[in-house]
Amino acid sequence: MQITPIPCLTDNYAYIILDETSKTAGVVDPSEAKPIISFLEKKNFSLNYILNTHHHYDHIGGNIELKEKYNAKIVGFTGDKHRIPGIDIELENNQKWNFGNSTINIFHIPGHTLGHICFFFEKEKIVFTGDTLFSLGCGKIFEGDHKQMLDSLNKIKKLPKDTKIYCGHEYTYKNAEFCMKYDKNNIDLKKKFEKIKKLRSENLPTIPSILNDELKSNIFLRCDQNDLKIKLNMQNQEDFKVFKKVRDLKDSF
Ligand code: ZN
Ligand code: FE
Repeated sequence: MQITPIPCLTDNYAYIILDETSKTAGVVDPSEAKPIISFLEKKNFSLNYILNTHHHYDHIGGNIELKEKYNAKIVGFTGDKHRIPGIDIELENNQKWNFGNSTINIFHIPGHTLGHICFFFEKEKIVFTGDTLFSLGCGKIFEGDHKQMLDSLNKIKKLPKDTKIYCGHEYTYKNAEFCMKYDKNNIDLKKKFEKIKKLRSENLPTIPSILNDELKSNIFLRCDQNDLKIKLNMQNQEDFKVFKKVRDLKDSF
């Protein structure tokens, strides 16, 4: 299975998934159709599926054009069927769904939007997290509340540690600067920031990130850690309160 990030709009990534053995092709969160079409034409592939993590325009903008061109099926969360344009296949929380020879697990992860889901490829240990978990960050809370977002992040934290994370935006550099501000002496974070600087200076994607690295360096995944609570002067406070504090700090960063 081959996954290619396709930069779209200003800082979005759509991801093209090619399963060469079963000749299955999918795209995750195409905000626009053009760059997807030109990639598929180069590869001489058609498109079978369009997978949407949530309904925002910068994740579904290419849906209809791609569906019409390739007769592709649009896959999304059943709870958001009225907001995902052209939806054909409605999936539920914890449902398994087959893509070529792979099994995808669907997890409902509300917070950024109420109908947000992620796609976890079991055998390949790959997850598409949309705008819920970013490398060194997490999505803004638009429709849900902080409790929901934290629960959703905790679901992702329980995936295998070597899971590769593919998120919806290239926000990593800015996120790293924020993490550095409040989590200074974190050695893992410092190392990750150096790698990020190098990649971005060559205009390369920082994605995928590995879950284990995120657990050690993403401040939003560390709100249950004592050393971070101490840095924020929030010793003995509930994880949820620490998370809210960090999210608020990021909103005004
Ligand atoms: Zn979004
Ligand atoms: Fe987005």
